[in-house]
Amino acid sequence: TTRLLVERVSKTYQSATGTLSILEEVDLSLSGGDAVAIMGPSGSGKSTLLNMLGGLDTPTSGVIRVNDVEPASMGAAELARYRNRTVGFVFQDHHLLPQCSVLENVLIPTLAGEGSSAQTESVARDLLSRVGLANRLGHRPSQLSGGERQRVAIARALINRPALLLGDEPTGNLDAQTASEIADLLLELAEQHQAILIVVTHSSELAERLPRRFMLNAGRLDEVQAGSPA
Ligand code: ADP
Ligand code: ADP
Repeated sequence: TTRLLVERVSKTYQSATGTLSILEEVDLSLSGGDAVAIMGPSGSGKSTLLNMLGGLDTPTSGVIRVNDVEPASMGAAELARYRNRTVGFVFQDHHLLPQCSVLENVLIPTLAGEGSSAQTESVARDLLSRVGLANRLGHRPSQLSGGERQRVAIARALINRPALLLGDEPTGNLDAQTASEIADLLLELAEQHQAILIVVTHSSELAERLPRRFMLNAGRLDEVQAGSPA
């Protein structure tokens, strides 16, 4: 099973007025099938933490390890492979390519890979039917609703069977009903793939759909105990 280990991770930025400390010795340990929300006020460092997990940013100190590999110590080629293979990202804005069809968008992360294209296309079709878009394969993103676009983004995030499925406000642009459908879909697919699902959000409605919740505040990450107000 996948293991994620975050150990004493700190992040600081240098600014004109001195050192800005964003994260202070954050610890987190998760394994495949775990699904957590990370909440916290705007500016508390949620995106910074998620970006470090996804290999888009590096800690100032401390260690992030996924299955005994450390993205911060990788060379460029290995890091590109880590971002493409080990991590699936779903953002607030779907980041789909407007000129490509739904099916082509889902296949984009496989273009750098070595698998046979017939096989990956059948995986993409299967994922698209699991997110309810089997009859939208040839549509362009502009022909879809906001919720449907996020479904495409989820299928694309899963196409390379990532160990980590990371969501940065994945339902931020959706109405409440669509947001809860997308949250359920993320949970269901992460569980089926035994991925670790980490969703960053300031929405307590979204956070409450996840089995475990953490609060990031003043540089510290603390688990919110079940039953306490989110
Ligand atoms: P990002 O880190 O992805 O740039 P932010 O979390 O800073 O995004 O904010 C995304 C949007 O959500 C912004 O419009 C911001 O004003 C709003 N927002 C952030 N935190 C809260 C909150 N606690 N309550 C309401 N709106 C929030
Ligand atoms: P959140 O996602 O919780 O809204 P972020 O992780 O986006 O928070 O940002 C945390 C803090 O780090 C913010 O105060 C932001 O202004 C600061 N920050 C983010 N990136 C940089 C950077 N490259 N240089 C300086 N400060 C940054």
